[in-house]
Amino acid sequence: MTPQAAYDELIRRVREQATLGACIALLEWDELTYMPPGGVAGRAQQLAYLAGLEHGKATDPRLGELLAVVEGSPLLHEPTSAEAVNVREIRRSYMRLARLPRTLVEEVARVAPVSQHHWAMARQEGDFELWRPWLEKMVALKRQEAQCLSANDPYDALLDDYEPGARSDDIARLFAALRQELTPLLAAIAQSRKKPRLAILRRHYSLEQQRSFGMEVAAALGFDFQRGRLDTAVHPFSSRIGPGDCRITTRYSPNQFSDSFFAILHEVGHALYEQGLDPAADGTPMGEPPSLGMHEAQSRLWENLVGRSLPFWKHFFPRARQVFPEALGEVSLNAFYLAINHVAPSLNRVQSDEVTYNLHILIRFELEKDLLSGDLPVADLPAAWNRLYQKYLGLTPGNDADGCLQDGHWSEGMFGYFPTYTLGNLFAAQLFDRVRAEIGNLAEQFHQGDFRGLLTWLRRQIYLQGSRYRAGKLIEIATGKPPDHGPLVRMLREKYGELYGI
Ligand code: ZN
Repeated sequence: MTPQAAYDELIRRVREQATLGACIALLEWDELTYMPPGGVAGRAQQLAYLAGLEHGKATDPRLGELLAVVEGSPLLHEPTSAEAVNVREIRRSYMRLARLPRTLVEEVARVAPVSQHHWAMARQEGDFELWRPWLEKMVALKRQEAQCLSANDPYDALLDDYEPGARSDDIARLFAALRQELTPLLAAIAQSRKKPRLAILRRHYSLEQQRSFGMEVAAALGFDFQRGRLDTAVHPFSSRIGPGDCRITTRYSPNQFSDSFFAILHEVGHALYEQGLDPAADGTPMGEPPSLGMHEAQSRLWENLVGRSLPFWKHFFPRARQVFPEALGEVSLNAFYLAINHVAPSLNRVQSDEVTYNLHILIRFELEKDLLSGDLPVADLPAAWNRLYQKYLGLTPGNDADGCLQDGHWSEGMFGYFPTYTLGNLFAAQLFDRVRAEIGNLAEQFHQGDFRGLLTWLRRQIYLQGSRYRAGKLIEIATGKPPDHGPLVRMLREKYGELYGI
């Protein structure tokens, strides 16, 4: 068999896997949006069946044979060619799965829903003990998984699933530097006399108007409704069924403007990335983002750096006032802008602001590293959680429901996922900093409601690159600098210094 023939068969096979993956994504989207409650059991069966098929394809020894033929051949001579990148990534995911014993994979799949169930119960009751034995089991399983994957740091082995190539030591350094800068900024904001009128965001905002305004803004940013749609779900998410079908969701509440609106912008950011990937490379690594952190960078960029900026609202606020005359009729642009950018330490990650958000992540990053290494016994998690909240944010949760039970990630075994959120914020700031320098009048363009300059730049520099480079490298190529906390800190200081008069 020639290397070319082996490569062609490899591509055909990963595209089949991607097709199966798209079917799974569609069933999952349906489950979270329109499926009637009676569909639960049948859907679980359909998904388990497809997951089995997908796993079989992904671990087929034939992939190993084909990789052996093509690797080392002149076809892969240029390391950043589509061929070389695809083979590199196919090898990576093949080896990852091949290293995991089937019994372990099945045990994790069996424990995860039970652990999740007990987590939800524990959260509702505010009783960590209900979940503790399951979390202990999950930590033990994940430690085993890490040992199978790599002889190196167990945390890095798991992190690699979400952020290929990243190392926790580098992330820890980056995060420590970030924290050092955020702490005084937060203290200065707390001292400021300027207090936003948050009540203006909790007036009556009709659900139908929220939906149509959200769609109008999404379209203006570049979300293509011919290749996507917006629906409602309990937890907002975005889902890619294919290059012509990227779906986003949000949730509406009649007395809360910002929750649904910024969730839409966040998911639009994810979807612009998916809609902007190279359709010709669909179903292969060259048609996929390189990491979760890079994906999150796009959602954060559009949600925060665009959607919470003054030029953006200079354009959209008059329209918002027209759409919501009762709520916003006598509200000034400045009062609105301050309200949507309110900063305050809180106990809750999901509801936190741009400045404190990363501190919530740093706490989780430290704790999950210690859980995996064994330095932190699961039984001590609540106390350790509360200690760090006091240290980083000056607050102590009154109960575990507001403390270590607030996120479901660990219950499902997602260790190494949290840092991708903050990496996303750092990458987003670096990209935005760069694009601002390259397009001199970006703020003016936003003010005019024109986001094409930004989108075109991101498409060229990031979206169309697929998985050609690891995320850190892609940032370096696009911005001229490796991952760095500087631009985020500068932007936060600039924006909140002005907003809070500090
Ligand atoms: Zn996101």
